[in-house]
Amino acid sequence: QAKELGRNNFQFFTPSMNIKTLQRLKTENNLRHALERKEFHVHYQPQIEVSTGRILGVEALVRWQHPTTGMISPAEFIPIAENTGLIIPIGEYVLREACTQNKAWQEAGFPPMRMAVNISGRQFQQQTLVQTVENVLRETGLEPHWLELEITESVAMQDVEFTNRMLLELRKMGISIAIDDFGTGYSSLNYLKRLPIDKIKIDRSFIGDITIDPDDASIVKTIILLAHNLKLKVIAEGVETIEQFEFLKAQNCDELQGYLFSKPLPKNDLHQLLTKNNS
Ligand code: C2E
Ligand code: MG
Ligand code: MG
Ligand code: MG
Repeated sequence: QAKELGRNNFQFFTPSMNIKTLQRLKTENNLRHALERKEFHVHYQPQIEVSTGRILGVEALVRWQHPTTGMISPAEFIPIAENTGLIIPIGEYVLREACTQNKAWQEAGFPPMRMAVNISGRQFQQQTLVQTVENVLRETGLEPHWLELEITESVAMQDVEFTNRMLLELRKMGISIAIDDFGTGYSSLNYLKRLPIDKIKIDRSFIGDITIDPDDASIVKTIILLAHNLKLKVIAEGVETIEQFEFLKAQNCDELQGYLFSKPLPKNDLHQLLTKNNS
């Protein structure tokens, strides 16, 4: 036992570990001030209807522009924000910003579109989420059916009874629900069938190789059939090539999102894209 402890201690004090720990503490500390210093921005990535090429909606994706470190990826800071609870105010900021922006685009005369906003596990577990969403919709004047919340498959499956109750309340408001990163968690089909959801987002890890890997191709085909049988819409994320697009079109996938059409864009760039699209 002593030997084991000793080994663990030794591992703890490796220089690389120290640097990682320090970096994490630094990020955590910076994160605490980032909101008040207005370092967060929201980018928007179009979601395209496969059959028409129309922009049906956009997904809001948070960006952190630190004055000295530069752009910090959500993959790096969202987990830290989750652990520290800072995701609650950050998430509320993104929601409010995204709804405000969507309403502004509608008022500028663009055809109304859906705004998809990611909700983390910690946010989803908060009983106050329903109230927060209600408040933001009221304050921004965005009609609820133009808002979609994305919850990952693994968060949704953590406590299915709780998920069911939360989603029912959220949907009563008139907003829609998408299951994000689908295929990476462990959904019981029986639960999936019972959840009050509108859409499944196929994780991009299945899309990258669909035209070369027969296993990925059959998984994607099966998910699309499953979703349609359950009367759900299905969107593929991470679509980067024409070949992937053709495959998804042949399989009747409803929507797609990915670099092939557009990267996530700052609001002004998306505004320009919408202007081009509608002229
Ligand atoms: P996600 O919700 O699954 O978002 C999709 C991610 O895929 C985004 O990464 C997007 O930039 C990236 N992506 C889109 N199309 C392509 C493509 O064609 N190829 C490749 N390689 N990537 C593509 P991003 O913006 O770095 O966000 C990563 C994750 O961070 C998101 O995954 C989401 O889980 C989380 N996240 C981002 N913004 C928020 C937020 O406001 N709140 C919460 N709770 N999580 C967020
Ligand atoms: Mg998402
Ligand atoms: Mg996803
Ligand atoms: Mg993802």
